[in-house]
Amino acid sequence: MDHGFGNWPTIQAARNGDRTAYIDGAGGPQSTWREVEERTNRLADALSRQGIRRGDRVAMLMLNSPQMMETYVAVAKLGAIAVPVNTRLHPREVAYVLGDSGSSILLHSTALAETATTAVAVSPTVRLTVSVPGAAERAAGEGGEYADLLASGGPERVVRDVAPSDVCCLMYTSGTTGLPKGAMLTHGNFFANVVNALGVGNGFGREDVTISAAPLFHIGALGVHTLPFAFFGACTVILESFTPDVWLEAVETHRVTKAFLVPAMWAAVARTLASAPRDVSSLDIAITGGAPCPITVIHDLRRYGMGFTEGFGMTETAPNCCCLQEEDVVRKAGSIGRPLSLVDLTILDEEDHEVAVGEVGELCVRGPNVFVGYWDKPAETAKAIRGGWFHTGDMARIDDEGYFTLVDRKKDMVITGGENVYPVEVEQVIYEHPDVTEVAVIGLPDERWGERVVAVVVRSEGSSLGADDLMEWIRDRIARYKSPKQVEFIEVLPRNATGKILKRDLRTMYGGEGGTVTR
Ligand code: ATP
Ligand code: MG
Repeated sequence: MDHGFGNWPTIQAARNGDRTAYIDGAGGPQSTWREVEERTNRLADALSRQGIRRGDRVAMLMLNSPQMMETYVAVAKLGAIAVPVNTRLHPREVAYVLGDSGSSILLHSTALAETATTAVAVSPTVRLTVSVPGAAERAAGEGGEYADLLASGGPERVVRDVAPSDVCCLMYTSGTTGLPKGAMLTHGNFFANVVNALGVGNGFGREDVTISAAPLFHIGALGVHTLPFAFFGACTVILESFTPDVWLEAVETHRVTKAFLVPAMWAAVARTLASAPRDVSSLDIAITGGAPCPITVIHDLRRYGMGFTEGFGMTETAPNCCCLQEEDVVRKAGSIGRPLSLVDLTILDEEDHEVAVGEVGELCVRGPNVFVGYWDKPAETAKAIRGGWFHTGDMARIDDEGYFTLVDRKKDMVITGGENVYPVEVEQVIYEHPDVTEVAVIGLPDERWGERVVAVVVRSEGSSLGADDLMEWIRDRIARYKSPKQVEFIEVLPRNATGKILKRDLRTMYGGEGGTVTR
């Protein structure tokens, strides 16, 4: 029996074979669950003929496409391990992931051929590369090397005994706080995530239509909705990448009912909708997650009738841990909500003792959705999973109603003159200044204070706000030890592919420690 997610399309093909599974946002052909089953059988067989066995790693450097979901499924059917690679990485970083995972095949979008070739040239484990047609080629009906590979496989299902405990995906973390680490996710983790998604009460079901625009190489778009939709037998519109206009047009055209985006993308949707109205009445649930979502964005979007829910999770937890439901998003704004059905959450101090209500400690997770460790990093794994709890690296507190609130990342915390300063708290104050568009607060080494609080600010256009004036303004609003001792102005803040601000890069830029240093 196959207990893996590769079996989900097999079940749907038998029960809902004629229903649409994937709509190619680029205008390529739509596929039914029966077609997905046949194509993934062919791909699994073809990969098997290429020597892929249980536990082997197959890397994917791909822009979102139905072919990317087919690859995830085909690899799962073989009991092999998919290694999705961030498409925005430098070839040197891609080579790091290929080498770290020991991948033997790389499937890449044609648009990323140059990166793939450069990376593979220094990745001795990779013995085959296959290019996958991009949006323009698919719209023109071209299948390229991917179609040739498919044609070399038979349509019959290769059945492997896949167990829930088998690793199916090495998903690299976003690399916000250090080098990305390959989180080993199992089929059981993804199944637990589906059960958790059902428990939230967002009403996911077969009649739903979702849209994937956030990158499918990250856990957000894959785990929050796209993969669960294969379990429900529902339909997914897949966009190669996110632009608010194209996204809104697709929502209107395909009557999308449920959607996930990261906050920066929702903010762009809100701005676009305000200037060019679209029919988004089909959208009943909008899901945000991955980073804090400004309440103003939630207010703006709720005006169009969509329910808004906020999820909290991470790569290592496949991903969902907590949810702030529709009825709570305003009342409990700023909180990440309560734990999902199969998730245990607690807050521990430095000695791994539970802290009291209202006190800050490290957020720790336990449950069937929690990964089994970092690939080839036993020391990192042992540091992260202790006493049965996965230590998330996020600092949080719980209130007397059982709602959790994130305070900041442990690695971003600044210790100045023996006091802990959580940058997010300082940033929230600075954001209130009318001339501030964006801000990131970091700690830099300081002879007198150990570390000093530094604010890196993007000024609004035309503003001549000075550092001293801003520091004085902040000092009037927040404890002196939390107030920045230095303000730097910058044009744009460095961000990773998920839109998260890279504070470790800022620390390096302004003379502090970089990302690989454990603080
Ligand atoms: P790395 O672990 O490599 O430093 P990363 O932690 O950013 O990168 P992800 O697994 O993609 O990689 O992101 C998970 C993190 O995102 C969480 O630990 C948390 O800090 C943040 N996060 C997720 N959801 C939310 C949310 N709703 N609100 C605030 N922060 C969130
Ligand atoms: Mg992390």
